[in-house]
Amino acid sequence: MSLWEIIKRLYPYVRPYRPLVLGTLLLTLVGSLAAQVNPFVLRYTVDTVQGLLNANKGLIEGANLLLLVSGLLLGKEIINTFIQFGQKFYGEKIRINVSSTLSQDAVRKILSYQLGFYSDNGNQTGKLQTRIDRGVESLMKLVQNFFIDILPLFANAIVALVVMFSANLYVGLVAVCILPLYFWISYRQADKLNGTRRALRGLREAKSQGLVNLIDSAVVIKSFVREDYEELKQAQAQQNLQEAQLQTRKTNFLFDGLKTFTEQVGVVLIIILTAYLVLDRQISIGAIMFHILLFNNVSAPIRQLHRIYDEMNDALTYSEGFFDILDAKEAVEPTGPLQPTHLHGTFDICNVDFTYPSGTQALHDVCLTIEAGKTTALVGLSGAGKSTIINLLCKFYAPDRGKMLLDGKPLADYDTHTLRQQIGLVLQKNHIFKGTIEENIRYGLMNASFEQVQHAAKQAYLHEQIMQLPKQYESDAQQLSGGQQQRIAIARLFLKNPPIIFLDEPTASLDAIATEQIKNSLDAIKQGRTVIIISHSLAQIVDSDCIYVMKEGRMVESGTHEQLYDQRGTYREIFDASARSLNIEKLARVLVDDEDEVGDTAA
Ligand code: ADP
Repeated sequence: MSLWEIIKRLYPYVRPYRPLVLGTLLLTLVGSLAAQVNPFVLRYTVDTVQGLLNANKGLIEGANLLLLVSGLLLGKEIINTFIQFGQKFYGEKIRINVSSTLSQDAVRKILSYQLGFYSDNGNQTGKLQTRIDRGVESLMKLVQNFFIDILPLFANAIVALVVMFSANLYVGLVAVCILPLYFWISYRQADKLNGTRRALRGLREAKSQGLVNLIDSAVVIKSFVREDYEELKQAQAQQNLQEAQLQTRKTNFLFDGLKTFTEQVGVVLIIILTAYLVLDRQISIGAIMFHILLFNNVSAPIRQLHRIYDEMNDALTYSEGFFDILDAKEAVEPTGPLQPTHLHGTFDICNVDFTYPSGTQALHDVCLTIEAGKTTALVGLSGAGKSTIINLLCKFYAPDRGKMLLDGKPLADYDTHTLRQQIGLVLQKNHIFKGTIEENIRYGLMNASFEQVQHAAKQAYLHEQIMQLPKQYESDAQQLSGGQQQRIAIARLFLKNPPIIFLDEPTASLDAIATEQIKNSLDAIKQGRTVIIISHSLAQIVDSDCIYVMKEGRMVESGTHEQLYDQRGTYREIFDASARSLNIEKLARVLVDDEDEVGDTAA
């Protein structure tokens, strides 16, 4: 993106604040005119004092002059204070408003994108956040530079130059000769720093990322006693950062020194020239001061050139990544016109192929039928493609090829939000938001009353446990155990009350008691709904109405438990392995012995 393109993209964001921008510009223009008052006042003072001295007059006559000069300078400063306040405050107001609109736009866009967008390499959580933060920050500086700073800065310099020229052509020429040199040094400085600053930023990120990792991995580091190793790693990152920081400072000091020197050469030249002109009686003695101050007004804004140049470079670097987020049109979730109020949940899937954006083909020519009101189980080893099927049914992703129908109509034709409002999804690990238990359960139905929330918690066998907590429903939900968090997800499901339910290993990470309770809750909610369940737990599969077996992205078997068991295929293999891993024979013996004992005692 070129600078011009970025400015064009930014303009709509600045547009609503046009009156504010114009007002700020006006203030700064007045400010730049006010800045020229000092040279005039000083010239007048010096010349008048000189006149008084020549006329052998003293303090009494000079007092009037002092009063006038103090009045003028203080009056100008008072006006200047208001101008500066207005300029800074309104400038900041524009920046803050534009930056929040830009950030909010990015948030809205990201929320509208498909899941594939998030798994893209450049969009992972940390990276996306950095891209947005940096993009907004550098664009804000551009707004400040381009819409607020540049014109007044140069207005100030130009007004000062015009005044210099009109006072004396030769002095004006000297000032103009110094400028290109100054520009060139500023340009070289920005150019040299460009690479180092980028490297510096990378190193800073690496260092803070290292620190975050350190905290995340504290338990592993300590248990393996790797403190020294980690410290060394951090020290290395610190060392690299230190070197880059020093290098940047060195370059800055060097160029700043050069610029000050050039400026001073300009001042010296102006002193020599004006002193010569004074001695030659071409101008008054006050003009020496007058020209030096004016030259300062010319060079002061140009001193900021390298900052502006740097920030424009930053904007060029980072805003592209930011606008890419706003423009990722292909990532927008597709939706359709159908908005039925009640879905039955008959899914017909035929010859479906699907490849993740990363390039992994997860489904090959998959066909299956999910009957409404029944429970269908998907079985297969890890990575077989079971969750992928659920991802496609929720329209998180679209298939590469094949037919997907819901209640007889193409899934793609359904309005995505309407579809998802009627699907309840419980995963192996469900996200718990930062907040209270009540807020987390209410996520299932945002306008639910507290009684409804409580009722849902009871159905999910969670209420009793919540009541034992010191702050009950007000407790921090993220502090709950895995099993309790899972129950929150189920309570949400009860509140949402959808006709279609997808369960993706809902009890995989739970203990036996929690598993049993959650199974009871799920059995209660399954009634009369379309359910797809993925589970490694035989208990949850065997009584499904239909079981589909997957292997390496393909559908290999289907039928009831009894049919599949008799087929002696993949299902049987998985079933037998599960039984062995549970040591069913021994468990069965224990149970039989137990029953015998009970029988004996009864007899
Ligand atoms: P299952 O649920 O049967 O364990 P999945 O459907 O999760 O299997 O995964 C099927 C295949 O797709 C695996 O090879 C897995 O690595 C891959 N996969 C799953 N999710 C993603 C993703 N978000 N991006 C890329 N590949 C994925």
